Amino acid sequence: MSGMPSSKVSPLHIGAISVTCLIGAGLIGGIAHQKFGGGSAEASSPAEHPVAAAAFGDLTRLVTADFAVQPRAVTQVSRTLGRGETLSDLLIDMGASPAEAHRALQPIFDAEFIDPRRVRPGLTATLTLEGGESADIPAHLIAVNLRSENDSSFISTARTDGGFDATRLEARLTPAPLRVAGEVTTSLYEAALEQGAGDQQVVDFAKIFAYDVDFQRQIQPGDKFEIVYESMVDERGRPVRLGNVIFASLDGHALTRDFYFHVPSDDGVSDYFDSNGDSATKFLMKTPINGARLSSRFGSRRHPISGYTRMHKGTDFAAPTGTPVYAAGTGTVERASRWGTYGNYVRIRHANGYQTAYAHLSRYGAGIRSGSAVRQGDVIGYVGSTGGSTGPHLHYEVLIDGRQVDAMSLNFPTGRKLSESAEMMEEFLTHKAEVDAIRAGLGAPGITLVTAEDSAAETGVEGRT
Ligand SMILES: [Zn+2]
Repeated sequence: MSGMPSSKVSPLHIGAISVTCLIGAGLIGGIAHQKFGGGSAEASSPAEHPVAAAAFGDLTRLVTADFAVQPRAVTQVSRTLGRGETLSDLLIDMGASPAEAHRALQPIFDAEFIDPRRVRPGLTATLTLEGGESADIPAHLIAVNLRSENDSSFISTARTDGGFDATRLEARLTPAPLRVAGEVTTSLYEAALEQGAGDQQVVDFAKIFAYDVDFQRQIQPGDKFEIVYESMVDERGRPVRLGNVIFASLDGHALTRDFYFHVPSDDGVSDYFDSNGDSATKFLMKTPINGARLSSRFGSRRHPISGYTRMHKGTDFAAPTGTPVYAAGTGTVERASRWGTYGNYVRIRHANGYQTAYAHLSRYGAGIRSGSAVRQGDVIGYVGSTGGSTGPHLHYEVLIDGRQVDAMSLNFPTGRKLSESAEMMEEFLTHKAEVDAIRAGLGAPGITLVTAEDSAAETGVEGRT
C-alpha cells in the first residue's frame, strides 16, 4: 500500500534501543498500558470497547449466547479442568473472583447437573467476563459454560441482582464454518474482533503466521486478512461456540500466504499448509509470543520498539505484562534464572548450534527450569519488565554458535512438504478444494474498516455474512 509514512517503522534506529531496553519507562509503559489495558492473565484479553461493554446490559442475550451480535463487549476464556483441580479452582484461575465462582457454580450443583465430588479432568469451562479493560474497570463474571466430555453442556448466567441461574443447553447445535475478513487498520486483533472472530481465533491466526512474520513490525495498516473457523450454531443460526481456524490468509506488506488446516493421513500430525502443501511450521518462530494483540502502533511519532542492531542484539516485542511467551523452537532449557540487566531470563538450546533467549520475563512457565525439555510453542514464561527494562516487553534473541543474530532476517526452510508424496499432495488438494468451496459458499465477507477512535462508538457488528 502506498501513501504510508515511511517513518513508522525504524528497526535500526539506535535511539529507539536505549528507550526500550534501558531508559524507556514513560514510552513503553505509557503506550503499552493505554493500548492493552494492563491485562495480565494468559487467557485474558480485555475488551477494548468500554461503550459497548456498558451497553451490554441485557443478559438474556447471553443465555442465547448471541456472541455474534456484540462480541466486543465481553471476553471469553476456555480451559480444561486439570487433575486434582476443583471447578472452583478452575474458575478462579481463569479470572473469576472466589465469590463469583461460588455464586455461579452453586445453581449448577443445586440443579444436580454436575456432582461436585465427581467432576473429572477433561471437563471444559468457558467463562464470559465483562470489563477488565483497565484497572478501574475490574472484570466480572457474567456466564460460565461447562461442557463435559460426553458433550452435555450447562450454562450459568448472572442475573442483574448478582445471583446466577443454571440452564442445561440442549444439543441442537450444528457445525457451521464462519469467515471474517478485512483490512488491518490499527491492529489485526481489533479488526478481526470487530467482525465477530473470537479472541482464540485471532490468537490462533497469529500463531500460524508467527513463523513467518514479526507481528510487531511487519503487520501493518492495509494488510488484508481472512480467517475461516469452525463454529457450532444454534437452531437460529447463531454461533454459540467457536472452534479451530481451518483457513488463514494474510495478504500483507511482509508476506502473502494462505494456510489450510490439514491432517495428513499418513502420520496424522495436524498442521497448517500453504497452497503448495508446505507446512507453516519452521525451525524457529519470528514472533515467539502471543502476537494477536501486538500492534505496530501506526502513526506513533515515538516508536519505541527496537529491532536488531549490533548494539541491541535482539528484537523487542512490547506487550502487556503476563502475555505468554512461547518457546520459538523445540529444545532444552539451558537457563531459567535472573541474569543482570536481562532480568528473569530463559535460554533454550536447539539443534544445529542455535539458541534462543527471552529476557525481562515477569515469571517462568510451569516446569521451566534448567534442563527442561520444551516443544515449540510451549509457554516458557510471561512478559514482564525485570532487569534493565523499564516497560513491559519481551527481548528476544537468536544465537548461532553463541553469537546473537538478527532473528527477523533468518529464513528457515519450511517443515513438512506434502508435495514430496504424490499421494499426500493429492489428499491435501482435495481437502483444500473443499475448504475453498466452503469459503466461496460463505460469500464475500463484509469489510468493516475500524479505527481506534470510532470503534468505541459502535455498538453492533456488521460484516458477518
Ligand atoms: Zn531489547
